[in-house]
Amino acid sequence: MSNLPSLGTSSAALAGTVHSASRATHREPVYLDYHASTPCDPRVVEAMLPFFIETFANPSSSIHAPGRQASEAVERARAEVAQTIGASSGEIIFTSGATESNNLAIQGAVRFAPVGRRKVLATAIEHKCVLESCKWLASQGYDFEVIPVGEDGLVDLGALVDLVDERTALVSVQAASNEIGTIQPIAEIAQVVHRAGALLHSDAAQALGRIPIDVGSWSVDLLSLSGHKCYGPKGVGVLYVRGGARSAPLEPLVFGGGQEGGLRSGTLNVPGIVGFGKACEIAREEMGREAIRLGRLRDWFERIVQSGVDGVSRNGSFARRLPGNSSLRFDRVDAEALIANLPQVALSTGSACTSGALEPSHVLTAIGLSREQAYSTVRVGIGRFTMEDELEFAARGICDAVQKIRSIGNGTN
Ligand SMILES: *Cc1c(COP(=O)(O)O)cnc(C)c1O
Repeated sequence: MSNLPSLGTSSAALAGTVHSASRATHREPVYLDYHASTPCDPRVVEAMLPFFIETFANPSSSIHAPGRQASEAVERARAEVAQTIGASSGEIIFTSGATESNNLAIQGAVRFAPVGRRKVLATAIEHKCVLESCKWLASQGYDFEVIPVGEDGLVDLGALVDLVDERTALVSVQAASNEIGTIQPIAEIAQVVHRAGALLHSDAAQALGRIPIDVGSWSVDLLSLSGHKCYGPKGVGVLYVRGGARSAPLEPLVFGGGQEGGLRSGTLNVPGIVGFGKACEIAREEMGREAIRLGRLRDWFERIVQSGVDGVSRNGSFARRLPGNSSLRFDRVDAEALIANLPQVALSTGSACTSGALEPSHVLTAIGLSREQAYSTVRVGIGRFTMEDELEFAARGICDAVQKIRSIGNGTN
């Protein structure tokens, strides 16, 4: 403990900025997988509770007062979400999550596009739900091409200029990576995409609450959000649609009662939507301070690990990454062995959807890592409730596990 790098800030200042219970000793396992999911903020749960038993009516039942009350709550939440991303309320479509939003944006836009535009582009490091939607379109006779990224994880703008043309319907570029945390220059990308007359969609599931989102200055046409990535509940998401549902260049995926301007039929998830609204309200108020706290904690964590063991490298852009993200590679260490040796810490190897599979993460290979390097990568995601003492515990545990695996000498793939 004595030769631990200094955090450079008093722990009181770090811990005091966010809503979290101070506790003397940490809980185990220490949760460092905030990219896979975040806990609901207790204030979010509190806001949701009245909408299970008291205000439970169907918000489409505008004929009676309980229905109107539910509908008013949905509209308040819609306004909160809109304000958080610089949109207007009519441009917010509630869905079941970012997976559905991405499917609706990509399949909906490409199937709606004029006959001359049958091409869809997406980066090599998108979430599987984006890539699988594009592959399905390819199986239906559309063209799908992959936009390469550099070693830093940033979109290769030159390649994008070459790929996007007057036959392109839609380009999908994530705002921030769930694996390596890289933040893409969406406004710059929008210029290239719009010059070719195509639509730009951005999967911003990892951006909400972590970096400011402004659909106006970003100039996106469609943008996906997820509740459970920003301290809201699971099973609720948003698709921002420029101009709103009436003029949307989208074919719906789900047909029925015509809710959400006909773009997404089905009874609205009122508690989930209310929770999403509350999560956005909290994010607007606290994101600035929280990002500073998490950036410092993350840098401190990396210093502890790098001073504890050698042969550690960081993946992705160092300058343009999410404040709570750290993607680390340990020479001669299999990440699955590391995680198995450290049950007191909840960590991930690649993205949650890829783990369990034999293939290395498509994101890590897309930034030029060898299979061995990809298998040596651990993803750390810290967030609102991460405390200094538990992060220090985790960093020391990682160092110990790395040394143990290397000393056994079977850490190499
Ligand atoms: C989590 C995540 C999704 C999927 O969101 P769900 O709401 O869980 O469906 C999509 N894209 C990114 C970048 C994510 O991190």
